[in-house]
Amino acid sequence: MGLIVQKFGGTSVGSAEKIMRVAGRVKAETDKGNQVVVVVSAMGKSTDQLVGLAKEISSQPNKREMDMLLSTGEQVTIALLSLALNEKDVPAVSYTGWQAGIVTEPVHGNARITNINTEAVQGQLSAGKVVIVAGFQGLTVDGEITTLGRGGSDTTAVALAAALKADKCEIYTDVTGVFTTDPRYVKSARKLLSVSYDEMLELANLGAGVLHPRAVEFAKNYQVKLEVRSSMEKIEGTVIEEEASMEQNLVVRGVAFEDEITKVSVLGLANSLTSLSTIFTTLAKNHLNVDIIVQSTTDTKTANLAFSIKTEDLLQTLGVLEDNKEQLNYEQLDAENKLAKVSIVGSGMISNPGVAAQMFEVLAANNIQVKMVSTSEIKVSAVVEEKDMLKAVEALHKAFGLSVAS
Ligand code: ASP
Ligand code: MG
Repeated sequence: MGLIVQKFGGTSVGSAEKIMRVAGRVKAETDKGNQVVVVVSAMGKSTDQLVGLAKEISSQPNKREMDMLLSTGEQVTIALLSLALNEKDVPAVSYTGWQAGIVTEPVHGNARITNINTEAVQGQLSAGKVVIVAGFQGLTVDGEITTLGRGGSDTTAVALAAALKADKCEIYTDVTGVFTTDPRYVKSARKLLSVSYDEMLELANLGAGVLHPRAVEFAKNYQVKLEVRSSMEKIEGTVIEEEASMEQNLVVRGVAFEDEITKVSVLGLANSLTSLSTIFTTLAKNHLNVDIIVQSTTDTKTANLAFSIKTEDLLQTLGVLEDNKEQLNYEQLDAENKLAKVSIVGSGMISNPGVAAQMFEVLAANNIQVKMVSTSEIKVSAVVEEKDMLKAVEALHKAFGLSVAS
């Protein structure tokens, strides 16, 4: 007998009929004699609809009340799935995040799980029940409801699997696994049978929407065996584990991309030991996330600095920089919109020099100008114009041998 955590995303539980189908999947597992914890998302697009309703009432809704509102979506699904399992004579009980003992830090809209008290869930499992837990939500030590950030049900599932020492965590979704790149845009994208935690972490952070980045972080830290698979088709998915088996020995395993990026330049920045720390501390204090940073010293007195941000943060970023102009001591600001980030990811890069060089050759051969670059041990990212994004992705996908036909 094993313990399995299964997570079903919004599209997989989008109607009563689909919820009955999920109940069938869960029953298949209990019929095998396994204990099952199920984590579910809100039905279909209901979280988006709740956000829409709030926006009709307030342009900047209070974050605590948003958590109160959004956490209701998952509560609908847990009750319906529990009813569905009971219809199939599978004893089940539904739990909200707090009933399942999920404790988070006191942050609204994007809280991290700090602890899980598994006693109640374990008690129900021992009593022979399937426990259905609402994803995406938790409770602070002061008893406030929080949510984990959009897509956060994945994190609930992996964190529960870690806390319960489950044998496996299965993420059921509307795609059949993790692909070499987004199959909606690139026809030759291929499903990967396995990916390492580190590769998946890079891919998730670089815009591959298939898994919540924090879920991958948890899986890596607690060595949770994770599998992403289809809730519709009964086919093998993608296993995420410490060492991915090297199919085809590929150095690059995936190409990720993200649009709506803006490059902000700070020109004529007075050069001092603390000028960089002052700028980035000021931005951080205002919760503004900066991605790639490039600094070029023009002479000894002043430097030019550029960094990339999400376009949605542009107005706020410029506002903060302008409000603090005197203290930050620069001459001028500049912003370039309509940019995108294209990244190649693969553990094999550590031991293979020349991967970045090949990436730039491919981009140059396709007449694509690179605006900014950043690297880690296992990824290279290039900021390009948005209009070149898909061309870059296709060219890199092909050049690094990821296309099906290659
Ligand atoms: N329902 C939440 C969302 O739409 C959480 C999730 O689906 O993972 O973001
Ligand atoms: Mg998701």
